[in-house]
Amino acid sequence: MRNVVIVGSGCAGNTAAIYTARANLSPLVVSGHEAGGQLSLTTLVENFPGFPEGVNGPDLVAAIKKQAENFGAEYMHGAVIEADLSKRPFRVNVEGEWIETRTLIIASGASARWLGLDSEQKLIGHGVSSCATCDGFFYRGKKIMVIGGGDSAMEEANFLSRFGSEVTLVHRRDQFRASKIMLERARSNPKIKFLTSTVVEEVQDIGRQLVTGVRLRNLATGAVWEQEVDGFFVAIGHIPNTAVFRGQIETDADGYIISKGGARTNIPGVFHAGDVQDRVYRQAITAAGAGCMAAMEAERFLEAEGH
Ligand code: NAP
Repeated sequence: MRNVVIVGSGCAGNTAAIYTARANLSPLVVSGHEAGGQLSLTTLVENFPGFPEGVNGPDLVAAIKKQAENFGAEYMHGAVIEADLSKRPFRVNVEGEWIETRTLIIASGASARWLGLDSEQKLIGHGVSSCATCDGFFYRGKKIMVIGGGDSAMEEANFLSRFGSEVTLVHRRDQFRASKIMLERARSNPKIKFLTSTVVEEVQDIGRQLVTGVRLRNLATGAVWEQEVDGFFVAIGHIPNTAVFRGQIETDADGYIISKGGARTNIPGVFHAGDVQDRVYRQAITAAGAGCMAAMEAERFLEAEGH
């Protein structure tokens, strides 16, 4: 029987592990499918406080994990495939092994939705990004492309127009999901050009391990052409990793956990941390802060129960 099981090993989960380990609660962290979370998909992180020269994303998350291990946090490979939160102790099934716990911190994050092109996947971190706030700065004076037709795409295009020489927004339809105000803001931005009814067929150049351009297709006319691009930002939404808790933890229609104040969920003893609940800020630093909050609440919960 564990005191604390933490689901997810990104910034939120690892920070929750530091705090609960220092509180002598011997946390168990279930690493999940994407160990290290979204930071492990980035390169240089320049906005995490304390690193004036910036820090490599994977190194940062590895350092936070090491810090947690130094205080006695245990890590387990694998993902939670099933959970029973109907009674205490809670039970989670990690790839066949059932684990019982008094408290649970869900820090399983949200995965960026990708187009799914082989070329896109191979160039993640080499010009392909899912985070304008993280990587926009690297494309000063460069040609940027943003994919998507929702608020995220508009927001990212506007943000990236501060850096790029031009921003091309590519959307597969000619109708937008984005709110009117966000769409208008992007439309009135002289640096942003719109390509509608257009899809990306290939991101180039895998051979050089660097984004140099894209091949596009207009769905209305069938025209295919190539365009030079330096930074390729995919903003077609995120998928919160809450499927295994569905029907037990209260979520909104998109699957994000609904907070009941602080780090609390609808189930006492189960806490949330990071992007699994946060669709707005989604930063490493806010996830770390949320991990700290969840840990402190788990600690208080256990203390109140006499453990
Ligand atoms: P979203 O609203 O679900 O929009 C996703 C966009 O990506 C859609 O335009 C969709 O096209 C496109 N898309 C999805 N899969 C695609 C694919 N495989 N290939 C090409 N295009 C694809 O997601 P979001 O923009 O991330 O927004 C999520 C939520 O957060 C929304 O409720 C939004 O309002 C909110 N949000 C708010 C703000 C703000 O107010 N500041 C900022 C960001 C997000 P289709 O339209 O054709 O389906």
